[in-house]
Amino acid sequence: MNPSIRLGRLFGIEVGFNWSLIFIFALVTWTLATNILPITAPGYGAVLYWVIAAVGAVLFYASLLAHELSHAIVARRNGVKVAGITLWLFGGVSRLEGEPKSARAEALIAAVGPLTSFVVAGVAFVLAYVTSANALLSGVLAWLTFVNVVLGLFNLVPAFPLDGGRILSSLLWWRSGSRQRGVHNAVRVGRVFAYLMIAGGVLELFLGGGISGIWMAFLGWFLLQAAASEEAGSVVRTLLRSVPVSAAMTSPVVTLPDWVTVEQFLESVAPNHSFTTYPVHEPSGKLTGVVRLSDLVRIPSGERGQKHLIDVARPIAEVPVTNPREDLSALIQRIGAGLDQRVLVFDNGTLVGIVSPADVARVLTVRQTIGAAPRP
Ligand SMILES: [Zn+2]
Repeated sequence: MNPSIRLGRLFGIEVGFNWSLIFIFALVTWTLATNILPITAPGYGAVLYWVIAAVGAVLFYASLLAHELSHAIVARRNGVKVAGITLWLFGGVSRLEGEPKSARAEALIAAVGPLTSFVVAGVAFVLAYVTSANALLSGVLAWLTFVNVVLGLFNLVPAFPLDGGRILSSLLWWRSGSRQRGVHNAVRVGRVFAYLMIAGGVLELFLGGGISGIWMAFLGWFLLQAAASEEAGSVVRTLLRSVPVSAAMTSPVVTLPDWVTVEQFLESVAPNHSFTTYPVHEPSGKLTGVVRLSDLVRIPSGERGQKHLIDVARPIAEVPVTNPREDLSALIQRIGAGLDQRVLVFDNGTLVGIVSPADVARVLTVRQTIGAAPRP
């Protein structure tokens, strides 16, 4: 989940939000303004309800952010890099790069989130009590207390990727000595909870529960998907651990002059090579970008004569780089497993290879076939 809009940095951690968040913001504001506040604090004007409801919705997202920030800060303190935090439809996601080094670190990173939600609930509760003379203010703070308690409890459900699932996984890791096995068993437990949520949601729907039943079933379905991808990711990382980049990269690399036209390239270069990616260079020999065959053939034939490779290349500054000795699992965690990612491999400043998703897939297939035993 990448952010659509960047908000800035907090404690050195990039914070952004996804467009899907706006729907929930509107829904939360609407629910507060029309259903909750008029009941807990009757007798105010409609405009005031909407204004306070919007403030409440902002505070709600601030609570979510506090929850995610606590994960990110504890992760960083335990040596796990944090790419950033994205707020979206179902709350927040901390994008961690890499895995915790120990079961204890994983447990701490996971547990601090719900703990933070309970602390925020406690603070909101005290403030609601202090402001009890003002029914509207006190009402919105009481609601904030409630949602943070729910948030903390919901995240403790032992299903991936919820915090409870990670706490369970760390306990199993600690007991079995293998993170892989911990994740595997925690995913199985989580799957049971996800099916229970779907069943409960459907049952509620039939019993007349309406929208909340659909919501619960949808969340259960989401958890099932997330658990599957969590486990797949963990298996992939284990298979690729201790495989150096040099074992996967395509080498040597053919680089092209960046002033060649797309037409010249397709007529005289492409037929003679089996590569799908070519770094391009300027007359001095300095690399300027990377072109992919699939992008070049997509250019309409009428434009191929005028377009030069430099016009269509991905700028060199945007292309991730590595060295032949980096671990493949570390590389994938660092750059993400995007299907269009190409990584240039440099050894002491010299371009020695390219790693494409197809290369990684090839290594994966081989490792799976020979049954690489997961290291503890
Ligand atoms: Zn959390």
